[in-house]
Amino acid sequence: MRPLTVVFLLIYWIITPSFALAQSDSRGPTVLVVTAHPDDEVMFATTMYRITHSLGGDVDIALMTDGAGGYRFSTLSESIYGRDLTDPEVARNYLPAIRKKELMAAGAIAGIRNFYFIDQPDLGKTQDQDSILTYVWDRDFAAERLDFFLAQRDYDFVFTHLPIKPFHSHHKAATILAIEAVSRMDPENRPVILGSFMTGFMEDEVAAFTGLAGHPLTRTYPDGPFVFDRSTPLGLDGRLNYNIIANWMIAEYKSQGTMQLLTRDEGIERFWVYEMNGREAIGKTDALMELVRTAPF
Ligand SMILES: [Zn+2]
Repeated sequence: MRPLTVVFLLIYWIITPSFALAQSDSRGPTVLVVTAHPDDEVMFATTMYRITHSLGGDVDIALMTDGAGGYRFSTLSESIYGRDLTDPEVARNYLPAIRKKELMAAGAIAGIRNFYFIDQPDLGKTQDQDSILTYVWDRDFAAERLDFFLAQRDYDFVFTHLPIKPFHSHHKAATILAIEAVSRMDPENRPVILGSFMTGFMEDEVAAFTGLAGHPLTRTYPDGPFVFDRSTPLGLDGRLNYNIIANWMIAEYKSQGTMQLLTRDEGIERFWVYEMNGREAIGKTDALMELVRTAPF
């Protein structure tokens, strides 16, 4: 960690005692990201990057599925991997390992520390997260794995996708399992769990979101969102910005064909606080994202 960062963190911890209590030493914030598919974590790309590169923090990821889905768009990567990946049988056998490698390559850019694979089937074309949790995934197994990962490390925050209704059922199911896992922890010693959504997609549904029907734990406070703008300048004369990081990560996902269409030169990563955290989580989240925005590069 750079000396300036250390000074900044010391000042920060002195002025925010509730967060400081969770910091037993001089480490930065520790985050567990819970997602459904390899490439979902790009939604948090630059917030993760800032935490690992500028705050001296650690980010781990727990991936819910084996990543074998979406093979029909793997056309351009077939020559790279030497496999007929758009064939469903080939995809089922080879894509899980390919997607794990792509995730770890993208994760290396964001500075992700540990990769936890829960390997549930990447199947089920439905908007209904409850049918995924009942019929497609082994819900008890996935829940036990999350409990185990959360118990292994002293996480300060958990990042999930905001579970808006029209979003992919796997994303919503992963979020529900993560919130349930955090809710099973001792309230005095558990991380703040957040829902996130980038700008530029499903804006009306995001703006209207207060919680997913049938899942009261997903209710969010109206406060926020707490944000990091990928266009924040850096480098010589401020001519670079953090969109580069997100686009580098997207480029690692050669087998996720349509993902390559999402390279952008703007975007804001936004976070909301689930009510099940309690109101003090709002201040902690505000403090984290203030630090993400302002800490020296
Ligand atoms: Zn996804």
